[in-house]
Amino acid sequence: MAEKKKYERPIITKHYSGLMNKFGSRAAASPKSEIDGVPIKKLISEFGSPLFVFSERQIRSNQRNALRIFKTRYPKVQFAWSYKTNYLNAICSVFHQEGSWAEVVSEFEYDKARRLGVKGENIIFNGPHKSKEALLKAINEKAKIHIDHFDELYEIIEITTEMNLKANVAIRVNMDTGIYPKWDRFGFNYENGEAWQAIKRILSNKNLKLIGLHTHIGTYMMSADAYKIAASKLVNLARGIKDEFDLLLEYIDMGGGFASHNTLLGQYLPAEEVVPSIEQFADAISTGLFELPLKIDEMPLLILETGRALIDDAGYLLTTVLANKRLSTGQRAIIVDAGVNLLFTSFWYKHRISPAQESGIHVEDAALFGPLCMNIDCLSDGILLPALKKGEHLVIEYVGAYDTTQWMQFIMMRPNVVMVMEDGTVELIRKSEDLDYLLDREVIPDNLKSVK
Ligand SMILES: *Cc1c(COP(=O)(O)O)cnc(C)c1O
Repeated sequence: MAEKKKYERPIITKHYSGLMNKFGSRAAASPKSEIDGVPIKKLISEFGSPLFVFSERQIRSNQRNALRIFKTRYPKVQFAWSYKTNYLNAICSVFHQEGSWAEVVSEFEYDKARRLGVKGENIIFNGPHKSKEALLKAINEKAKIHIDHFDELYEIIEITTEMNLKANVAIRVNMDTGIYPKWDRFGFNYENGEAWQAIKRILSNKNLKLIGLHTHIGTYMMSADAYKIAASKLVNLARGIKDEFDLLLEYIDMGGGFASHNTLLGQYLPAEEVVPSIEQFADAISTGLFELPLKIDEMPLLILETGRALIDDAGYLLTTVLANKRLSTGQRAIIVDAGVNLLFTSFWYKHRISPAQESGIHVEDAALFGPLCMNIDCLSDGILLPALKKGEHLVIEYVGAYDTTQWMQFIMMRPNVVMVMEDGTVELIRKSEDLDYLLDREVIPDNLKSVK
């Protein structure tokens, strides 16, 4: 016999203007009780709460899908995984197994990629800060160094001259793509001729080998057309290099920034309805690149520095209800055990948050707070949720990008991170932190050791 449904008392809900619109009210979150077939309850009972969970299957499928879309539009494509988006070893390894190179923006990320077995020549070294030691290592290991500014160019010239080395370099170019504010703090500007200056200086130095051009025009880009404009501008530079110096570039690197399906705070419609698809980004980029008047076998390799769009929907944060209360306004408040220290992206995303169990159909507007004793610890200040009891669970979705790199140990430690493997097993990929972990880094001066 079917289990008897739980009794729910009738309730009267106050409706606020703006909640209803011609698309109807937002559907109440339906329960999300498992991830790739593994029950949320089981994950939490084995690994604790809060808990980050990644899906190996989803990562691989995102990568394969995006690669197929680009490769059907342009003949030569190479992905490089953006480490800062998520540099957990297990995550990077999945991308590397799928053929991605590494894209790093710091020396420690560079070393992390090397320790994972990525060859120097398959590392793209970006970013405004590369120490002299880091540059020397990258030059020796044949990494692709993307120069950010003239001072870095001079430093590379100094190092290579002093030690008689050859460096493989590209420049990062910034430009007006019709998206404002412009991202002009990284790289050399296209419109004012700075990029062309940098190119000429590189080509006039025998220790530097110009192998490519790079741009990364922004993050969470809502316009595919901006990529076409950017590709056209890099193509103009590549054409100039061919015409004036008779040099064919190995690659054009269009960066990352493709929007994922997270909905921005203040964005009215869900992301799925407003964000361009990977197909549209790929169409825009290949259209721009095909403006190059070259034979097909002379066309540069297209590199993409893939980030959030390939990982966001493969990450979940599981959390447990600690308490229910009413704010003085009458608004319902739910306190959960995951705080904003674990969910940096809550500052710009309206995450999809679903109950992990059947909790009834009546929903009520609620504010969701974390466990930190800080007023800012609010995960969502207006979300429709059914009644939840202490001890029940919520699943915060689309947290694969940036949350496990920008998280911090603040009041609470960072929790376990697991991966649901393709075969249905669950592997711990980062151990939760504890007091010993914290104290291991601290040093207390002798005369402060005794507390009377
Ligand atoms: C952060 C970054 C990326 C990845 O950006 P997403 O928005 O995560 O796609 C790619 N390239 C560079 C240079 C970056 O700094």
